[in-house]
Amino acid sequence: MIPDAGPTPSPAGLRVGELRERLRALGARPLHEARVMRLWTHAQPWDGPRRHPADHFPRTLDHALPELIQTLAGLARLQVREPSSDDEGERLLFALSDGQTVESVLLARGGVCVSTQVGCAVGCTFCMTGRSGLLRQLGSAEIVAQVVEARRLRPVRKVVFMGMGEPAHNLDNVLEAIDLLGTVAMIGHRNLVFSTVGDPRVFERLPQGRVRPALALSLHSTRAELRASLLPRAPRIDPADLVAAAQAYGRIIGYPVQYQWTLIEGVNDTDQEIEGIVNLLAGHYAVMNLIPLNAIPDSPYRRPSWERTAHMARTLHQRGVLAKLRRSAAQDVEGGCGQLRARTISIQPRAPGGRAGVAGFAGAAPAGRSGAAGA
Ligand code: SF4
Repeated sequence: MIPDAGPTPSPAGLRVGELRERLRALGARPLHEARVMRLWTHAQPWDGPRRHPADHFPRTLDHALPELIQTLAGLARLQVREPSSDDEGERLLFALSDGQTVESVLLARGGVCVSTQVGCAVGCTFCMTGRSGLLRQLGSAEIVAQVVEARRLRPVRKVVFMGMGEPAHNLDNVLEAIDLLGTVAMIGHRNLVFSTVGDPRVFERLPQGRVRPALALSLHSTRAELRASLLPRAPRIDPADLVAAAQAYGRIIGYPVQYQWTLIEGVNDTDQEIEGIVNLLAGHYAVMNLIPLNAIPDSPYRRPSWERTAHMARTLHQRGVLAKLRRSAAQDVEGGCGQLRARTISIQPRAPGGRAGVAGFAGAAPAGRSGAAGA
């Protein structure tokens, strides 16, 4: 008789810690737990020729393994792939176990950009994801699952947390995912990039982790008022103070901070902004990433001309700021954050109860994990 180890936790919002607890409840000793986590995070087969679970795992764990594998596979099911014409970027849409969807992007050179929330509460006025508000937090296991699924498609050596959501608003789950990715999943710590609009909790927590990721700060303007209008629900911190806090973290980890700047014609591509950036960053160990806007429907914002964009990058360079012109990932497949999801939802029939009709694990999200929530 196999002892009952209790129910498998619901996969919607599942955390890595809950997964580990489940394994222990099933009789896993540390080496069994380590092996399950390693096989999962490296997307390796569960039943390879020299590692049949029955040969190694306790009987209770072995018995529950098929259900556990099902749960892990249902965390993020690949629903849509949109390759870019240059074959470098590829946008992925994942269905979560409760029918919600999130986007990830395969990037050049083994990178993957993952989502940390369904929707986002910051409401950046140039971002499609910001329009929906926050729908729910992703559990750390759901964040890791996007990397696992990406590993089934190609090798992954770098993970950036720049997809849907503001990582600072789901800090415990994002940090738990970073810890697992930087240890068991063997991603180099500086190849994990925590992206944020800036939040005091981030600057306090990041230095405390055993895995300390690189930092990307979404700045977008050096003018407090303009920044507040572009990022309406970001913490009201003066851009100079934000840069000071980010630079302090960069010094702790000995790695340059990346500043993200979505370039919008006539809004933040001005000479005044060039002066502002020079004042804040000239001579500092930092990289300014200039990302021409990927326009979204029904928005007044436009992408600046190539000449203007190149002028800005060149001027910053000449004045002591390491500026790089970035293409939005997979731009030619409407690569703006949240656009693939928005298009898919608009064409997808809805299941009874209002959920998108996708296949997957049908576990209901526990209270507090789903539905609208403030960050
Ligand atoms: S740009 Fe990022 S922080 Fe801003 S609304 Fe979109 S997902 Fe949220």
